[in-house]
Amino acid sequence: MEITKNPTIEDLIVKIKNYAPRADLDVVRLAYDFAENAHDGQFRKSGEPYIIHPLSAAHYLADSKIDPTIIAATLLHDVPEDTEVTLEDIEKNFGSDIASMVRGITKLGKLKYRGVERYIENLRKMFIAMAEDVRVMIIKFADRIHNLTTLEHLPPPKRYRIALESLEIYAPIANRLGMDDMKGELEDLSFQYVYPKEYQRIKTIRDEKLAGKEQYFQQVIEKTRVELGKASIKPLAVYGRSKRLYSLFQKLTRKNNEIAKVYDTFAIRILVPSIADCYAALGILHNLWKPLKGRIKDYISQPKPNGYQSLHTTVFSDEGEIVEFQIRTQSMHDEAEYGVAAHWHYDEYGARLPKREIKWAQELVEIQKDILNKLSDLEAMKVDFLQTRIFVFTPKGDVIDLPEGATSVDFAYHIHSDIGNHCNGALVNDKMVSLDTQLNNGDVVEIIVDKNRKGPSQDWLQFAKTHTARLHIKNNLKDQEKIALTRWLKAVLPKK
Ligand code: MN
Repeated sequence: MEITKNPTIEDLIVKIKNYAPRADLDVVRLAYDFAENAHDGQFRKSGEPYIIHPLSAAHYLADSKIDPTIIAATLLHDVPEDTEVTLEDIEKNFGSDIASMVRGITKLGKLKYRGVERYIENLRKMFIAMAEDVRVMIIKFADRIHNLTTLEHLPPPKRYRIALESLEIYAPIANRLGMDDMKGELEDLSFQYVYPKEYQRIKTIRDEKLAGKEQYFQQVIEKTRVELGKASIKPLAVYGRSKRLYSLFQKLTRKNNEIAKVYDTFAIRILVPSIADCYAALGILHNLWKPLKGRIKDYISQPKPNGYQSLHTTVFSDEGEIVEFQIRTQSMHDEAEYGVAAHWHYDEYGARLPKREIKWAQELVEIQKDILNKLSDLEAMKVDFLQTRIFVFTPKGDVIDLPEGATSVDFAYHIHSDIGNHCNGALVNDKMVSLDTQLNNGDVVEIIVDKNRKGPSQDWLQFAKTHTARLHIKNNLKDQEKIALTRWLKAVLPKK
């Protein structure tokens, strides 16, 4: 999604009406008038009237068909922080739901510290906001995306700081929430400020690879439409997308910078009404063009760990050109592009809060109070909660969500600290494995417990990956030391 140029409130209303014809849009207009009035006389560093900023963020969310109530809160998001108007005034005018979103954003805004402390403080606040109300994060991302598009008006050190924070904290959180579209936007906008040379290099590589190909791709898209039509498949959309720069940068780094090995610099997306249509469309493509070996991926029957679903195939298209196709239904598409935010797309039956998806955020709030105090903790935290996740199962079929690289020990502590402290081994898919064996997505894990076990051993710290497990192990080792010391004291001290 692009940031709208010269945004107006009238265009915003029209945009929302298109996807929410029956919604009450007075609240959006009132929020605009209220915010414009409050910010009157304030200007952005770019010289524009301040209201352009919340209005742009609101447009960005309307482009993603977000619920109008969230858009109203977005228009108001900087009012309490930057003007005389208070949160109480907002509550009086707009009710407690909108006021509580604005309060969430305002809490995120005030940072007392500098440097590393500021970084940690910020992360901590975002985790809390996320656990309390994920809508606040949706607004915060739109706010940040617009700020990133106007970074050139700030002094270079500040530019760098904001871009780095977006790349290191905001983007991974957006990713964790499945908001691929916002993640991509945050990354690409920050990329040029954090790694300017690499940004230029990657941009050149992509531009060279795609130069002069527009017409060719257009023809392939057209042909695809015609062939699907012949088979009575009515695609909702067939369109091309070029790979985002930061994601191309990461992929090239993994592939030793060999652009020839990156097949999805440009891909064609096909959105169809049903899952049956997805497979039918795949068959039609393969009948038309020869697929490359090993490049057919069925993420519908086997979704990626983050839930991503689609069919992928890479074919030798007309004139032998290699083209990747991604086939999915509309709901798979929404989930892939907007993640948690997809649950806040407008629907006339009222949006619903996706409880399950943010359980990990609540968990994080619980433990971050004790441990998030220095930079090394921050790094560990990022490993725990922002890395790619795997999903494994208990023998009863309950899903446990762990970071990639986690072991049976992490699994055991995730279930309960007692299970962790007394675990003696594990059965993974019915096979006995050592405790340091890394788990894979889809594994069924059963922990073998020894009630007589004294507690964890020191060397578990070499392979325990999650903070929960490491914290329990360390605490328990300390306790064991204390017990041993008491015993020793009892033994050596003279009896009374
Ligand atoms: Mn703002």
